[in-house]
Amino acid sequence: MICPLCDGNNFQSVFRAEGVPVNQHQLCRTEDIARNIIRGDLDFLYCENCTFIFNAAFDQNKISYNLNYDNNQMYSDTFVQHVSRICAQIPNEERRVVEIGCGDGEFLRRLFQSKDCKYTKGLGIDPSCHSTEGKLTFCSRAFNENDIQKDDIVIARHLIEHLPNPLDDLLQKIRHCYKVIIETPDIQWTLENRFIWDFFYEHCSLFSKFSLLYAFKRSGFNEIGLSKELDGQYLLALTGQKTKKHQDFLGYLRLDMSSIKEQWQNLLKQYCGRVVIWGVGAKGVMFANLIDPNKEFIKYGAELNPSKIGKFIPGTGHEIINCVDVRCCDNIEAVVLMNPVYKNELMSYIGDSRIEILFADRSKE
Ligand SMILES: [Zn+2]
Repeated sequence: MICPLCDGNNFQSVFRAEGVPVNQHQLCRTEDIARNIIRGDLDFLYCENCTFIFNAAFDQNKISYNLNYDNNQMYSDTFVQHVSRICAQIPNEERRVVEIGCGDGEFLRRLFQSKDCKYTKGLGIDPSCHSTEGKLTFCSRAFNENDIQKDDIVIARHLIEHLPNPLDDLLQKIRHCYKVIIETPDIQWTLENRFIWDFFYEHCSLFSKFSLLYAFKRSGFNEIGLSKELDGQYLLALTGQKTKKHQDFLGYLRLDMSSIKEQWQNLLKQYCGRVVIWGVGAKGVMFANLIDPNKEFIKYGAELNPSKIGKFIPGTGHEIINCVDVRCCDNIEAVVLMNPVYKNELMSYIGDSRIEILFADRSKE
């Protein structure tokens, strides 16, 4: 085995878990469907040469991104503000914008919404999206090199971490474009916060500032500006800007799931099953699968995304209820807040109740 970024062959084990759902965003109509979803293993390795972290057990054939995939986070005000900050950093010029892996197209719509928008056209490419709206066209298929021209502004948000070969699959194909904007989770944040819920099957390629810069440079890009977004959880790379300083090399760290799992199960036991997971995005789904695979400690997942409400958490089959209803549920004693950035939003729903808040990110308590 060689490293997909640098061809190195010295690795350390970072995180392992077996039999997790390969698709955290699948909408499961029944508990039975939820418990019988396709599963895969996590075996994340750290490359000692370039610090890239990747899932050595990843099998692309297990993954399918179809219309039954819902990853819309725009129901959260906090997330909408984050997206606005990203939009503001994309140069507003008379050019076409191509978004690769545009999901349901919501980001591109927002980018084109502003009054002084100068973009000539927008093209969104994603297997789960298809329509034409004014200047915007959405194509329901995988991306290929013919989709882009060298004068385009190319955006790929939360895509590169899904690609087992980030150089061949993406960066080398778009290296001649006018501007490239890439957003991806920062594995440094995950490791520093011991946030094991950030290791998903779909996220087979995990970057720090150092390894992302390395990947760009190896693909032939010269100037790349890097910034941290969403309280340091995400990295934003923008080509055509100078990198301000040398990026720190990410040190090796192994996350031991068994001790984290035991700590959580001991904590949740005190609430006799009267616990709700707040936010059934990828992190919430992994939390349920790693901590409570047999539905012993947690009663529900809670969501604001209406297409998830009334469905079941992939892998475990916990029912998903509306966040609005949590405080009226019988005997709920605690919620596990999956992402600390949503704390104020959570408080607006349950702030004046007796429900306790447990932070999935334990360092924020
Ligand atoms: Zn490497």
